[in-house]
Amino acid sequence: MTEAPVLEKPALTQTVVKAVCRMCHGGCGTLVTVRDGSVASVKGDPDHPVNKGKLCSKAGAPSIEQLYHEARIDRPLMRVGPKGSMQWKAVSWDEAVRFIARKMLTIREQHGAEAVSFARGVSMNNNQIVTRLANVFGTPNIASINYYCYGPRVAACTLTASGKFSGRGWDSVAIPDFYGKPACIVEWGSQKRIANDHGLIGHTPVTEALRAKPFSVIVDPRRPSACGPGHIWLPIRPGSDGAMALGWANVIINEGLCDRTFVEKWCHGFEEYKSLVAEWTPERAGDVTGCDPEQIRAAARAYATTKPATMAWGTGSDHIGRNAVQANRAILALIGITGNLDISGGNCFWPSPRLADTEKWDALSEEQAAKRIGADRFKCLTLRPTIYAHPPSVFKTILSEKPYPVKAMIVIGNNPAVCYPNTSEVAAALRKLDLLVVSEIFMTPTAALADIVLPAASNLERDEPRLYMHIKGPGGTHMDTSTRAVARVAERRSDWDFIVSLAHELGYRKEFESVEAIADEALAPLDMSWEEFRQHENVLEPITYKKYEREGFGTPTGKFELWSTKLAEWGYDPLPGHVEPAESPLSRPDLADKYPLVLNTGARTPMYWNSNGHPLSTLRRLLPEPLIEMHRDTANARGIEDRAFAWVETPHGKLKMRVHLTDRIRTDVVSIPHGWWQPADQGPDFGIFDVCANVLLGSDLDACDPILGSSPLKAMLCQVSRCAPDPVAPKPDPR
Ligand code: SF4
Repeated sequence: MTEAPVLEKPALTQTVVKAVCRMCHGGCGTLVTVRDGSVASVKGDPDHPVNKGKLCSKAGAPSIEQLYHEARIDRPLMRVGPKGSMQWKAVSWDEAVRFIARKMLTIREQHGAEAVSFARGVSMNNNQIVTRLANVFGTPNIASINYYCYGPRVAACTLTASGKFSGRGWDSVAIPDFYGKPACIVEWGSQKRIANDHGLIGHTPVTEALRAKPFSVIVDPRRPSACGPGHIWLPIRPGSDGAMALGWANVIINEGLCDRTFVEKWCHGFEEYKSLVAEWTPERAGDVTGCDPEQIRAAARAYATTKPATMAWGTGSDHIGRNAVQANRAILALIGITGNLDISGGNCFWPSPRLADTEKWDALSEEQAAKRIGADRFKCLTLRPTIYAHPPSVFKTILSEKPYPVKAMIVIGNNPAVCYPNTSEVAAALRKLDLLVVSEIFMTPTAALADIVLPAASNLERDEPRLYMHIKGPGGTHMDTSTRAVARVAERRSDWDFIVSLAHELGYRKEFESVEAIADEALAPLDMSWEEFRQHENVLEPITYKKYEREGFGTPTGKFELWSTKLAEWGYDPLPGHVEPAESPLSRPDLADKYPLVLNTGARTPMYWNSNGHPLSTLRRLLPEPLIEMHRDTANARGIEDRAFAWVETPHGKLKMRVHLTDRIRTDVVSIPHGWWQPADQGPDFGIFDVCANVLLGSDLDACDPILGSSPLKAMLCQVSRCAPDPVAPKPDPR
């Protein structure tokens, strides 16, 4: 008997909606097909000016899997068992918000507003609204991961160039202009093809710019697979970025390759900088960085003489701890003295959209602001736009109650148990809190320790003003007009909705009238309401170049400050010198016998975005587990075979991971990805003590950058050793 063919039921309704991907902070344009009320497909929007129809591996099917995943948190949960027992009862949003507000007010009454802290992750559009509530409530303590990611570049650019314009007219950072047809592209500790900067989508613009075959320079201990012939690869020792930049500057100045007009007219402290640079011959830079001096010369010449040249700099120089801000200043100095600053095809300060300041900084008294944890030591934490509490200091304060008790943390879009160094310390601090609130999409190692877990809306299900997540695109800054809640699932709410309802319960109805009212307030300088704004296909702030010729730089002298007035005033070295990481082969030769290799954590992969995406089978199939990337010769010397398990050990901890052998990495460097946890493992830890790179990192404040407090996630000493027996390696699913 033949079976009757199964006929596909015709769809009753089908619409295609223009939306924006939010599987990372990028914002690629998408076309979302909604069939009979459910999202059926997510494709790239070919008309989007930046991604031009292309999406990365995190979008498309993974975004639909995430939307309807059975493990999503769909209702507010209140803890009913001991901390970390994961015994919950479902409660209403009203009940949850009322509970949180009452606890916050009680803690403020007993210990002061500063005893309530906030923690937020990569800017996904909640910065302004979270800061507004913290300021109105009276606490200066917002911990953010920016202090080690992007923040060092923001600090470097703000101190040297953008200053008072930073985020107020100019974007903070001199962003590589891939749209301006750069003739030379330097990728310095940065893989923008698989990872995005704030508002800079990497995959399509970088790929297109490289297709034009510019001269290519790679400064990285790992050589990207897409780097073709005709390039220079400088396999830098992690943590020596400052020395490398000074070595380039030595060649550029000695060989007369500076942009003389820029130097003479716009540089402050050039003579002092020149004296510093004179000490950094390519030979000395070669000794410190482990690179060939002739290659250093060739790279510096190519960058200085091939116009326009763009510098794609990234987390490599952000993650080195002690010298993070100065190393970034040293790289920025190269952009300036070669005349590649704020020109088409160079590095530009994209325009910041003309939005009103909605953060209500004036609501926070000076007395409260002075209590910001860590800002007395790491002075740049007092300077806009890098005003945050120092996360490792916050966790230490929770545990020690010195200089004052911190009793509550409201976590929004962050996963501290996975994302901050010294995992044991962070977990102990989270457990000690009287109130831990976590707004999340999945049950994470942080959420599992909470008193209240809130169901956060995510990609495709948020209807909120994404005014602050703008994209650096062709022609200028593109503001996102098309974020829409394409789907509404269960009781999930956006960060904005949660903050506004919490503010109402705390008694701040006037300051937080509604999401729409705050959006209207932000858009007032554009003379548009949020409703009118959303009728536009695109709102563009056009880019202009060499803004400093009209406005000067935003620094105290109005110049490009190679010698920083602000750093001198704070008592730091005003020049961008090189300082070794706290645990490097040069600074700690005593440790090098036991730990002869250099460990980098934080390597980006195309599948995961920080600690996001790990519960999704569509992504796990592509990369089922974290891998130790190391050179074949280094592994052979230790009897370690490809895909065998090995121990990676630092003075702070030990992890067992499978190795991936390659010839594309320095022989003395090993690299592991960050952000890993195992959603399928037992909570509350969800495998963090087995796979999270932060287990290997310490939280010693002396190892942090003295200016901003950035933690060293790279450039530390380690050893890798064989471990047995070797379980059979799972093969990636070819589907
Ligand atoms: S880069 Fe980010 S925004 Fe673009 S498709 Fe990938 S996850 Fe989505």
